[in-house]
Amino acid sequence: MKEKKGVRLEHISKIYKDPKTGKDFYAVEDTTLDIEAGTFVTLLGPSGCGKTTTLRMIAGFESPDEGEIYLGGEAINHLTPNKRDTAMVFQSYALLPHYNVFDNVAYGLKIRKVSREEIRERVMNILKLVEMDGMESRMTNQLSGGQQQRVALARALVLEPGVLLFDEPLSNLDAKLRVSMRTEIRKIQQKVGITAIYVTHDQSEAMSISDKIIIMSKGKVEQIGTPREIYYHPNSRFVADFIGEANFLDARVLSADGDQARIQVAGKQMEVGNFGSARAGDTAALVIRPEAAVLADKGQLEATVMLSTFMGAYQYYQVLVDGMELQITDYNPVNRRIYEVGEKAFLDFDSRGVYIL
Ligand code: ATP
Repeated sequence: MKEKKGVRLEHISKIYKDPKTGKDFYAVEDTTLDIEAGTFVTLLGPSGCGKTTTLRMIAGFESPDEGEIYLGGEAINHLTPNKRDTAMVFQSYALLPHYNVFDNVAYGLKIRKVSREEIRERVMNILKLVEMDGMESRMTNQLSGGQQQRVALARALVLEPGVLLFDEPLSNLDAKLRVSMRTEIRKIQQKVGITAIYVTHDQSEAMSISDKIIIMSKGKVEQIGTPREIYYHPNSRFVADFIGEANFLDARVLSADGDQARIQVAGKQMEVGNFGSARAGDTAALVIRPEAAVLADKGQLEATVMLSTFMGAYQYYQVLVDGMELQITDYNPVNRRIYEVGEKAFLDFDSRGVYIL
């Protein structure tokens, strides 16, 4: 395999015209970020936040209105897609329908005038890697969705690009296959050691495959971090809510000292983590993940049970705390006391597992 390459976006913007109003707007606005060579990075965010536009600018299918894109240190804005050291795996697979598997994978190499012997060797090696060897003479319309996606992946990998780009590659597959294919994509990426940039709006997909996640909202980067950093140290309410589930309780900051704070919430005082750099006197939100608290006879905050449902792996509660509704997932409830609707209980949590924003 060739040298793996990093990607740098420097003050990148893309302006589109809104077809309804005719007004210009930023689909991507002043985005600067670095993607390290050999890492698997996901662009994650709600529909319309600019993920695909960002990916298409890296691929060269769209050109930025402002800023510069670098691949392996080289400025690439002026290069057409086929001159860039990238290959894209599309949601639609984009396979050639009247070609068999072998010819689909070989196509890009033929265009690049690679010798017949080398094509055969490279295509067969890649088909083995994606576990499609033995299927080379099948027509692509005789393949399942998962098999077609493997061929699409092989077709990109066989070009040995410096960076592999994925545009929601699994959205056409059923839920179970999505889960197994994402694990395979990650395994193959690690085996080959290639830089991968992957667009998805599915947070569990992003969590499970990424070294780093880039969370986008309204054309801007909200946060970049490892899945753990993003989950445990979200830097905004948007990120806390977007990744996993989060409950927010209104709180008043009494004192704040670095990453710790003393707050007043629902008439109680307590020490919690402070990631949003809140200061004394601020109104903040106390963030409690549903799995960060359990219901118990003693605890920090009093709650009234509104809903209590057995979900197998956990007991699911909706509770009212100080007039605000919270969701609690009490895992492995087999030997725990189950609280019923209308009962009073306490939320019991480790103060290191909750924080303010
Ligand atoms: P999704 O998850 O729905 O694919 P996304 O985050 O990938 O969303 P983009 O496809 O990058 O979002 O689109 C960003 C914004 O730009 C959206 O508001 C979209 O409607 C708009 N947009 C995309 N392509 C064009 C275009 N060619 N002309 C005008 N507006 C566009």
